[in-house]
Amino acid sequence: MTDSFKVIHVDLTTGRSQVLDIPGRNTWLGGSGLAAVLFEQFARMDELADHPDQPLIFAIGPLTGFYPLMSKCVLGFMSPYHHQYAESHAGGRLALALRFAGYEALVVTGHAPTLSCLHVGARQVGIRDVHFMKGMDIFKTGKLLRTMYHKHSGHRSILRIGPAGENKVSFAAINVDTYRHFGRLGAGCAMGMKNLKAIIVSGNKAQDISAFKEYPKVYQDIFQAITASELMKKYHDLGTAENLNKLDRSGCLPWRNLKQTSDPGSIKGISGETFARDLLLRQTACAGCPVGCIHVGLLREKFGPEHEFLYRQVAYDYEPIFAVGSMLGMGEASEVLTLLEDVERAGLDVMSAGVALAWATEALEQSLITTAETRVPLAFGHVGPYRQALQLLSSPPNAFYSTLGQGTLHAAATYGGKDFACVLGQEMAGYATGENFFVSQALGFRHSHLDTGAYAFDQQQTSRDVSTAVSFLLEEERQRILLCSMVACLFARKVYTPKRLHEALMALGLEEMTRDLEQKTTAIQAKRWNLRFRSGFDPRTVSIPKRFQQVVTAKGPMDSTYMKELFNAYAGTLEAFRHQDKPGSPA
Ligand code: SF4
Repeated sequence: MTDSFKVIHVDLTTGRSQVLDIPGRNTWLGGSGLAAVLFEQFARMDELADHPDQPLIFAIGPLTGFYPLMSKCVLGFMSPYHHQYAESHAGGRLALALRFAGYEALVVTGHAPTLSCLHVGARQVGIRDVHFMKGMDIFKTGKLLRTMYHKHSGHRSILRIGPAGENKVSFAAINVDTYRHFGRLGAGCAMGMKNLKAIIVSGNKAQDISAFKEYPKVYQDIFQAITASELMKKYHDLGTAENLNKLDRSGCLPWRNLKQTSDPGSIKGISGETFARDLLLRQTACAGCPVGCIHVGLLREKFGPEHEFLYRQVAYDYEPIFAVGSMLGMGEASEVLTLLEDVERAGLDVMSAGVALAWATEALEQSLITTAETRVPLAFGHVGPYRQALQLLSSPPNAFYSTLGQGTLHAAATYGGKDFACVLGQEMAGYATGENFFVSQALGFRHSHLDTGAYAFDQQQTSRDVSTAVSFLLEEERQRILLCSMVACLFARKVYTPKRLHEALMALGLEEMTRDLEQKTTAIQAKRWNLRFRSGFDPRTVSIPKRFQQVVTAKGPMDSTYMKELFNAYAGTLEAFRHQDKPGSPA
């Protein structure tokens, strides 16, 4: 087996592309590891995110396309949100389209002279002027692209940005195949900075697996573990929306800008059960996934004086419902779905958008700002003003929305209200579980709830022991990095044990890759953090706003002393990566 990655690099400035052989496949595996290697090679650590040389790196892993739920793609980029190295992950059809186009990564650099669409296929690369799509929303853009690239419909993935990305909102998202996203840390803004409206990846190459005699048996074992056991059932049934009731009951669901962590009177209206009963239309899946956790709801919109309705299909999950549901005090599932559709149309990251508007609502309540800034009377539980505000956020008409579009902390620095800005590195994810989660998201590599799963640790661990918590955070991150180098959907983390990953690689003849897998994962962890530090990360500049110390969760009142000690200990441990990116053991 070759020890190099096949990578296609497209320079939007010159319009040229080339196929590269990047050495080190057996060491850096793929996904997160490959993205880090390519970021080190292409990125300008001393420049901001809008520098044309900064790369967008879409990387898949060695198991992509061969096993179920190996369906994610890692995007490595310089984040316009904090101007440091960042990763975002998305499903949809992109990972398989790249595999069948014959590449393990696509690197895009440069700045297109006009608003453009990039098409990468197995045998061709094309850049098309799409200036007529300027300002076009996600839905219209998708419709037009499907017509323009209809010949590639078989193994095609469509990535696009909406007005938010074009207008450089720092938390704009990239929409992937309508229902999935590179959501967090401003991937859509990074694409907008390249004057790139869309990327189409199409691939129809076949994979020859005839030499791999063990492969069918290993595949069957994994498929059975996924489909015949209870492990994945909940993701298909109610989906992640099932968590709303559970977290509310246990006092861990952020409501109204985290003023509360439970609202027994309102949760019924937006619970996963209510969504399923009243709005669920169908479940769908990323390519190569037999689970189908993507829940699509039916949204009816009355547009005439009599019984005239438009209907739309809008995806929902736990996180989006938290962000524009409980966080904004909404009590009706159909109103939440309406807001989700508006977020989608504009091309915003739903979590950042919801949390930013929750802060703006409280800032208005406290008279730090007025409707002269917000233009609409934002109020918890009122859908109309939020619908308008989402549009204003994606196409800022004034200084207030421009500033809020750079992130909630930017707005709080200008208008006040830092204490109640629910930001942990970026706008919070929906887990008010306790100190471990707050510290983990604030300092985590992706500032994501998926970095370490500390929300579960909070719920399981009643004692507050700093060294136990730091060990958990580091080790959990390391294990997830292995999965994200393969690149698995993290919902399958209980299926893809180290033993199964080993068997899966062996069955594809990747024996060399399986050697010292633990050490290689540690090396990837170190390289990612090292790049993060080299691109400007400084844990001492991160802070946890007061609201997180005042909140009462399932664990009771927060222990500020423990939170501070954990923060300092975890930050100190991460510091050890600053000068270390070689294989070997980090801190
Ligand atoms: S479980 Fe859901 S997110 Fe994961 S691969 Fe399947 S459909 Fe995609």
